[in-house]
Amino acid sequence: MKISENVLEILGDTPLVRLDRFFPGRATLAVKLEYFNPGGSVKDRIGLSMIEAAEEAGDLEPGATIVEPTSGNTGLGLAMAATLKGYRLVCTVTDKVPLEKITLLKAYGAEVVICPAEVDPEDPSSYYKTAERIRDERGAFLPYQYYNQANPEAHYRSTGPEIWQQTDGRITHWVAGIGTGGTISGVARYLKEQNPDIRTIGVDPVGSVYRHFKECGELPPADQIRPYLIDGIGEDLLPESVWMDAIDEVITVDDRSAYQAVFELSHGEAIFTGSSGGAAAVAARQIAEPLTEDALVVTLFPDSGERYLSKLNDDWLQQHDLLP
Ligand code: PMP
Repeated sequence: MKISENVLEILGDTPLVRLDRFFPGRATLAVKLEYFNPGGSVKDRIGLSMIEAAEEAGDLEPGATIVEPTSGNTGLGLAMAATLKGYRLVCTVTDKVPLEKITLLKAYGAEVVICPAEVDPEDPSSYYKTAERIRDERGAFLPYQYYNQANPEAHYRSTGPEIWQQTDGRITHWVAGIGTGGTISGVARYLKEQNPDIRTIGVDPVGSVYRHFKECGELPPADQIRPYLIDGIGEDLLPESVWMDAIDEVITVDDRSAYQAVFELSHGEAIFTGSSGGAAAVAARQIAEPLTEDALVVTLFPDSGERYLSKLNDDWLQQHDLLP
């Protein structure tokens, strides 16, 4: 019989699919579809790995409470692992997170605390500081995906080897969005250990800090850090979960290009991803454009567009001047 013990057993081994219609050039462009994970996103991988690392370190008593500041997907990954392992979960989220994600977190049994998005990370009302306060008040465990090395390590141990095997070691370029940086850098470090010639490219929304940091070694001036509409990638601070030395280059993508790519992909490839997937696709196509037949560019779509239906509709897109 082939019956899984629980849904976390079917985590990973997500498919890699060609994007020949989206990119009909000479090089091959392929995408790893992370919405095939049991909780519907790439973050299922780190939800489990951060909890298992805490168990190994003796940081989690049976029945303990876990609290995490999360844009949603990590919360869902944590919620599934917490449910199956008997922990309670509290998620602090920003008011930029779509309602669907909050509803989903609650459906999986998490308690959700909503905090303002447009405040300084050091402000006591920020979703980071609120999580720290809950940790102190309730004696909860805070995995903190922005600092936790089990985040990039999950991708070093699973996503990276999967891509290497799925491409028979022929991957030449790895392109992925940078949120916490776990996905891009864990995979990048693994791939470079297999073949140091593989080029690794991070994708950053216009208004975020990563490109400037990669090029100048410091955060950009405050007036260059500003809000954007792409979900789940970019930062206003530099987290410890990103291994910058494994990333060769960071390129920026604007809101309009990312959202237009979402629909170019759904209409052309029958693949419906979120705006961070759209941004990754734009960057990957830009990288693939000048390359020849022997190049194999791999990117990754973190989740599905179905998670953002309150944004990926004509009304919202028109309001934000993002209609094609
Ligand atoms: N896309 C979405 C929708 C996300 O939620 C995240 C995680 N914040 C990312 C991309 C980026 O992944 P990572 O944190 O591993 O850089």
